[in-house]
Amino acid sequence: MEINCLGCGFKVDLTDTYDDYVGQIKCFACGATMEIATQAGEIRAVNAVTEVPLPPAEVFVVRSVD
Ligand SMILES: [Zn+2]
Repeated sequence: MEINCLGCGFKVDLTDTYDDYVGQIKCFACGATMEIATQAGEIRAVNAVTEVPLPPAEVFVVRSVD
């Protein structure tokens, strides 16, 4: 599964681990953080998150999606 980075357009390649996932990912190219929601391997939502790096403890906090 690939998600286009909202910041630079880079296709972030996600493994099967992210087929059912709600949380944040990081673009490998520009480092922008995005909050994504996927279900059964399909992308449900992609939202830009502040590009300011979060403390490690908060990076992978799962949040509910509006
Ligand atoms: Zn990017």
